[in-house]
Amino acid sequence: MHIETQCLHEGYAPENGAPQALPIYQSTTYAYDSTEHIGKLFDLTAEGHMYSRISNPTVAAVESKIAAMEGGIGALCTTSGQAASLIAILNIMKAGDHFIAASTIYGGTINLFAVTLKRFGIECTFVDASAPDAEIEKAMRPNTKAVFGETIANPALAVFDIERFAGIAHRRKVPLIVDNTFATPVLCKPFEFGADIVVHSTTKYMDGHAVQVGGAIVDSGAFDWSCGTFPEFTEPDQSYHGVVYAKDFGAAAYITKARVQMMRDIGAYPSAQAAFLLNLGLETLAVRMERYCRNAETVAAYLAASPEVESVNYPKLAGNPNEGLAAKYLPKGASGVVSFTIAGGKAAAVRFMDSLKLASNVVHVADIRTCVLHPASSTHRQLTDAQLAAAGINPGLIRLSVGLEHVDDIVDDLAQAFAAL
Ligand SMILES: *Cc1c(COP(=O)(O)O)cnc(C)c1O
Repeated sequence: MHIETQCLHEGYAPENGAPQALPIYQSTTYAYDSTEHIGKLFDLTAEGHMYSRISNPTVAAVESKIAAMEGGIGALCTTSGQAASLIAILNIMKAGDHFIAASTIYGGTINLFAVTLKRFGIECTFVDASAPDAEIEKAMRPNTKAVFGETIANPALAVFDIERFAGIAHRRKVPLIVDNTFATPVLCKPFEFGADIVVHSTTKYMDGHAVQVGGAIVDSGAFDWSCGTFPEFTEPDQSYHGVVYAKDFGAAAYITKARVQMMRDIGAYPSAQAAFLLNLGLETLAVRMERYCRNAETVAAYLAASPEVESVNYPKLAGNPNEGLAAKYLPKGASGVVSFTIAGGKAAAVRFMDSLKLASNVVHVADIRTCVLHPASSTHRQLTDAQLAAAGINPGLIRLSVGLEHVDDIVDDLAQAFAAL
């Protein structure tokens, strides 16, 4: 099936007379006719739902849809993108381990990796993803267990060279984890370029409607967990009466362990209602992504030609430093997120934003409605102009998430706000 068809048909196929739409199985628990069957569920020798902290039929349908869209062998939904990144890492690392991540990743992920995981004894080194291989390899240590990057970085909009980083990771027998939130599998499938694990904040384009926070982890099934780097996959898990994940679950070792061990213990599993809402978003994802890209291309070109704008960052814009990587990894488009710097610094940016009539001023991105965010007065508000410069954020920088309104209306709104300057 093509991705447009997968969006609609993967994960749930109604039987004769069954509801056409994915039902919400609002139940914490599942009934079985024998104690023996429940024993087998606990032994992981029979398939079935046991308790909704670990799995639920509505969530499972959405998990198989996302896995199919990414070309993976299995997925695990989580209550947020943050929970997806946390579980993706904890599933393969413990105190004393180390990993490397591109320095341009989402700020919330940087906090998680640099501050919170460090308190758990897991260290992350942030690397400039545009540096040559030799420089990145210098950051690798004997205890390095993974490499992490974002397909399209939020908010830097740098395109991650997945194939190159997969090579760097695999030479050291560690997996490459890619946050594919902004691209979604509609625009890029990281597994096709050698990534091993994909994580998502489904809160963004996948949900799309600004109604439900969520996340997902997807397993390619391709990484060899018995390669020697990961004893927790080849030695018995005492918390599961001696299960050996690599031996007992083969290609599905990672995603099985993430569910039955990590999710069991951490408990960040979404509700059936949350999965139902996510599924509504997924059904139209392919159609929406196409329009986001076309609208953003028009808006980026308009901004580039506007005298009030100092610079525009959009990977598909001619002359953008990421143009080559975008051609390789994002042939269908680079999502709806565009950033630009307005002449006149923070004061001009604030005046411009407050003059917008259609675009909404929100702490969100990748919505169906066009929205804007001014980092200097919101996410990076505590920083002085000098500190903003050190963080690479111009006081006049605006992140514009182009929505699905008619593009002429979006451009008209920007034009009237420029006129108000
Ligand atoms: C928003 C976001 C996250 C965090 O996801 P939440 O659903 O907000 O927890 C992670 N990665 C990227 C790229 C994001 O944009």
